[in-house]
Amino acid sequence: MGNERPRVVIIGGGFGGLFCARRFRGVDVDVILLDRAACHVFQPLLYQCATGTLSIGQISRSLREELEHHPNVQTLLGEAIRLDSTARRVTARRPDDTTFDVDYDYLVIAAGMRQSYFGHEEFAAWAPGMKTLDDALSIRRRVFAAFEIAETLPPGPDRDQWLTFAVAGGGPTGVELAGQIRELATRALANEFHSIQPREARVLLFDGGDRVLKSFAPALAGRAQETLVNLGVELHFGVHVTDVRRDGITVSPKGAGEKQDYATRTVLWTAGVEAVPFARHAAEVLGAQTDRSGRITVDPDLSVPGHREVFVIGDLAGRDGLPGVAENAMQGGLHAAACIRRDVGGKRRKNYRYRDLGSAAYISRGNALLQAGPVKLAGVGGWLGWGFIHIAFLTGVRNRFSTVGTWMATIARANRSDRTFILGGSGHPEEPYTWESPVHQSYNAGPDKSA
Ligand SMILES: Cc1cc2nc3c(=O)[nH]c(=O)nc-3n(C[C@H](O)[C@H](O)[C@H](O)COP(=O)(O)OP(=O)(O)OC[C@H]3O[C@@H](n4cnc5c(N)ncnc54)[C@H](O)[C@@H]3O)c2cc1C
Repeated sequence: MGNERPRVVIIGGGFGGLFCARRFRGVDVDVILLDRAACHVFQPLLYQCATGTLSIGQISRSLREELEHHPNVQTLLGEAIRLDSTARRVTARRPDDTTFDVDYDYLVIAAGMRQSYFGHEEFAAWAPGMKTLDDALSIRRRVFAAFEIAETLPPGPDRDQWLTFAVAGGGPTGVELAGQIRELATRALANEFHSIQPREARVLLFDGGDRVLKSFAPALAGRAQETLVNLGVELHFGVHVTDVRRDGITVSPKGAGEKQDYATRTVLWTAGVEAVPFARHAAEVLGAQTDRSGRITVDPDLSVPGHREVFVIGDLAGRDGLPGVAENAMQGGLHAAACIRRDVGGKRRKNYRYRDLGSAAYISRGNALLQAGPVKLAGVGGWLGWGFIHIAFLTGVRNRFSTVGTWMATIARANRSDRTFILGGSGHPEEPYTWESPVHQSYNAGPDKSA
């Protein structure tokens, strides 16, 4: 390290990376926070953005603005693509495809997980996941466009396809999305259409297990299931979605039994996660072990075995079943920063101890689950606890006030204020409405041409 200030490079400005960077304020180190999107996203509220309650500005904040008062922290836009652990150098790609290098004395890998399609990447073209702002906007476009397209079709199977929504995965995100689409159909959209009855929209939720929300106590998950059924969500357990097409899905039972096809134009995928590609590359370069999903095995202080200068935190850290939740990422970020501060101060590092502060899941208006130690709440009590926790951890005072204001307006009136969606611009030929590529489609063709 010589006599210069140590340089810490943090990859990823999510919960882990941001909390780590903040902890270096006033410390005698230089920090570079590298993120491929240059903003912090509050992932737990992505589904509210996808279903028109909140705007992307309310659930995200520019990292540059967030760290404005941290003069020793520089934020850089770039996607880490290569690691040279001998030269202690990370290569990053700018959005224009050019690259640049950053050197480090300490590296903190906080790049999170991405959606996993279990080897069927081709599903992604028809079934967006739910990890980024792009995903949320893609889901918003598909959900609202599906109702619009159905309105233009005569009664019959084509229209029914557009009014059928399939959600793969019964974890918190799948439950939240399924509940929100039914709530949209029965409240905000219920009286706005002339030709269709939005409340007739079918929402199908598929999961390989025998209940939703496996990380919650069975009694709480049971309450969630009752609420979903009352909302009109159709629950299918013990099955895997084994094919996704432009106009439908195939579902196969885990044991013996017949496969079944469902005609649908909107499929949302929340079924699994895997490490982002850079994490897999880094594990290989560092000679680190990984689990099946690509989480990197770490020592008790969250550093990579044989590389005391490299930490892995948040969803990517594989140790003692650490959960993929925001609290673990935040605590891990603070811990990695504390270790580096202790190194700089010539003190011994401490081991990481995760403190489980509980978890929460939104089911529907006035109904959420909250589980923290012996406290187990459902219904309105859970809902108030859920709201309090989410506001407390949302980044930025302005976002907190505006989100509370929007929620109150949404409760008072059934409407959703952020329903606007745009068409195209993603570069994916299939993106606009899950139709065929506009390149191959005549503009004066009717919307049912591709059906
Ligand atoms: C829809 C959804 C709902 C959730 N709900 C809850 C909840 O209610 N409660 C809860 O506790 N947890 C919830 N979680 C989980 C929680 O959001 C994660 O555990 C947490 O975000 C993990 O933090 P992280 O810092 O490890 O990664 P992330 O927050 O995912 O951040 C990773 C960052 O790395 C950046 N990045 C990725 N690859 C690169 C690269 N190669 N180069 C540069 N930057 C890169 C990304 O842009 C991102 O900013 C939810 C997650 C999702 C997706």
